[in-house]
Amino acid sequence: NEEILRKPDWLKIKLNTNKNYTGLKKMMREKNLHTVCEEAKCPNIHECWAERRTATFMILGAICTRACRFCAVKTGLPNELDWDEPNRVAESVKLMNLKHVVITAVARDDLKDGGSRVYAETVRKVREENPFTTIEVLPSDMGGEYDNLRTLMDAKPDILNHNIETVERLTPRVRAKAKYHRTLELLRRSKEMYPDIPTKSSIMVGLGETVEELHQTMDDLRANDVDILTIGQYLQPSRKHLKVQKYYTPLEFGKLRKVAMEKGFKHCEAGPMVRSSYHADEQVNEAAKA
Ligand code: SF4
Ligand code: SF4
Repeated sequence: NEEILRKPDWLKIKLNTNKNYTGLKKMMREKNLHTVCEEAKCPNIHECWAERRTATFMILGAICTRACRFCAVKTGLPNELDWDEPNRVAESVKLMNLKHVVITAVARDDLKDGGSRVYAETVRKVREENPFTTIEVLPSDMGGEYDNLRTLMDAKPDILNHNIETVERLTPRVRAKAKYHRTLELLRRSKEMYPDIPTKSSIMVGLGETVEELHQTMDDLRANDVDILTIGQYLQPSRKHLKVQKYYTPLEFGKLRKVAMEKGFKHCEAGPMVRSSYHADEQVNEAAKA
């Protein structure tokens, strides 16, 4: 009977159900599109959709072939690939008037191309319809098939994001099928393919890692030339998911950010509510300036 940690006050925020985005949610259903913002019940949705004009689409279906123990996405047999999805995402980006869009995808370990062709086509269509919107891709590790990564990178996104999520020791517990060094390799290879496209990664804290391990993970990311880092608090999506071991204080996040900048990241966002796609619009600009 392990005790469940009490949520600190800085994480208890009121969800803002502003009508600005009830229309957008309806549009998502009509177009059969999925956003991480909604599915993960992200607390930043109002700020992102209404004020910052950012959203995170999840493509290639809503069912993932993997079952990471921190993630709320459904696991199971995936849907058929949908070649019209790129058009619908591109139209929605336009209707939402987005300045920055993050396009992520469930892991499609069932497909030889890992879904990379539909993914690349989505980047191209979004660009065609929205030439002023910056595009960030957040793919899975594609099972280490780097031809698939190339298919995606050839569509020239503005930023390649791939999350390390946690420290090396905890990776097997947290991300069943992913591997710590494969994540690093994907980041390194995308930089080799397109040196001008900034790379980015994220760490969730509160899963039982030590500060030394976090510093080591930062070093590992820098050794693979990663430009941007985000660090946020892990929150347990349901009782079936991994328990939170620690809530970091805003001050501790500040310290981690300082260390990250000293280690040479061009940009770092760190804070209790920071998500991989939070303030992503600013990160692109910073990385481009640096
Ligand atoms: Fe969506 Fe990311 Fe913003 Fe959350 S932080 S609302 S997931 S874009
Ligand atoms: Fe969730 Fe991604 Fe893991 Fe699938 S691969 S379970 S979408 S974190």
